[in-house]
Amino acid sequence: PPRNDDLKALIRTVPDYPIAGIMFRDVSTLLLDGHAFRETIDRLASSLDPADIDLIAGIEARGFIVAAGLSYALGKGKLMLRKQGKLPGPAVGIDYALEYGSDRIEMHLGAVKPGQRIILVDDLLATGGTALAAVALLRGQGAIVEQALFVVDLPELGGGQRLRAEGVTPASLVT
Ligand code: IMP
Repeated sequence: PPRNDDLKALIRTVPDYPIAGIMFRDVSTLLLDGHAFRETIDRLASSLDPADIDLIAGIEARGFIVAAGLSYALGKGKLMLRKQGKLPGPAVGIDYALEYGSDRIEMHLGAVKPGQRIILVDDLLATGGTALAAVALLRGQGAIVEQALFVVDLPELGGGQRLRAEGVTPASLVT
């Protein structure tokens, strides 16, 4: 099975995307490798105790891929945190600032029952703005969110610290 370094080597860096000066870490190249994807999901899943989890919440779009794998591996439902205007039913949302620009995520009203324990997942943690918005949105609906999983963490951008300050423990496979 691939080692940590091998997962890292499969993540491509695209300079100056989406704007000049940004080094974009592109997990699409890791996803092309079936063994590496299985290893990614297996490792993330083994860090979780299914008995402590009610739902897996994934952030659109790459977070959905990770959330779907974990949901299948653990036999837990998944919740889609979507970009603005994608949900057919009554929704609730939150605006947040990005590393580059701003955005809004939304979820269906009633998707979370108060007291449900939710694991937040995304492909990558940078400044933490997206993950913190997701935590606030989920908590606003009564969820308990104490753990967040990422394939990649960019620690110099401080997202992990910001999550911890909000009572969320982050974990990742590649830094
Ligand atoms: P943050 O909100 O600054 O932590 O940025 C994380 C969010 O933006 C996640 O949803 C990522 O998918 C996306 N993102 C930011 N930088 C990168 C990158 O270098 N590669 C892939 N996704 C990124």
